[in-house]
Amino acid sequence: MIPSFPDGATIASIQTALVALGRFKSLDSSRATIYGIRVVPENKFGLLAELFAQNALDGAVTGSDLIECHTAFPIYASLLADESKHLWKAAQLEGRPGAWARYFPAIVHDDVFAGAPRCCPACVEADREAFGIAYWRVQHQLPSVLVCNGHGNVLHDHCVECASTYPSGGQGQLPSMACTHCGGTQSAAMRKVKDSPGARAQAPCASRGSARTPH
Ligand SMILES: [Zn+2]
Ligand SMILES: [Zn+2]
Repeated sequence: MIPSFPDGATIASIQTALVALGRFKSLDSSRATIYGIRVVPENKFGLLAELFAQNALDGAVTGSDLIECHTAFPIYASLLADESKHLWKAAQLEGRPGAWARYFPAIVHDDVFAGAPRCCPACVEADREAFGIAYWRVQHQLPSVLVCNGHGNVLHDHCVECASTYPSGGQGQLPSMACTHCGGTQSAAMRKVKDSPGARAQAPCASRGSARTPH
């Protein structure tokens, strides 16, 4: 079964939903079937996105659409000239894992997404109603984004009951699933986040960067 998912859902969460829905036995087996090589499920910039579109989603979307709507690519590529953007996307589709480093040599890979995944409780609820499960949003994973642009909530990143953060990269877990440590189902807002005008201004900024028309 091909899941329905919202714009901005991460590729990792779409892959996890495919496992949860029984299309694949596990993330590992899905990786082998989809890509044939080792690709980290997080796949922040859409490496081999056309293979994901064909082998996981039966061609319901294109690889280019996946890159534009479900990865951090458009946010970072908005800083580049059109020609560079085009070359980078082609390199992602061809499966060159180090391509991003050519355009952003100063960025450490781990800095693209925050260590522990984040979600907005209102987005989680909206996803539950629309899709039955909830997805991680690309925008919420950017380390500088602390607030949901759509709902104004400070993002959540840990379990209320046992205080564990979500597993790194959200691997195997979706925001609507119970805590893997204690089975708790309530999340809590990130600690040490001061709700400030600056934090709120950052969210629409990231939103504009990722609001690209698919092509
Ligand atoms: Zn939200
Ligand atoms: Zn817990």
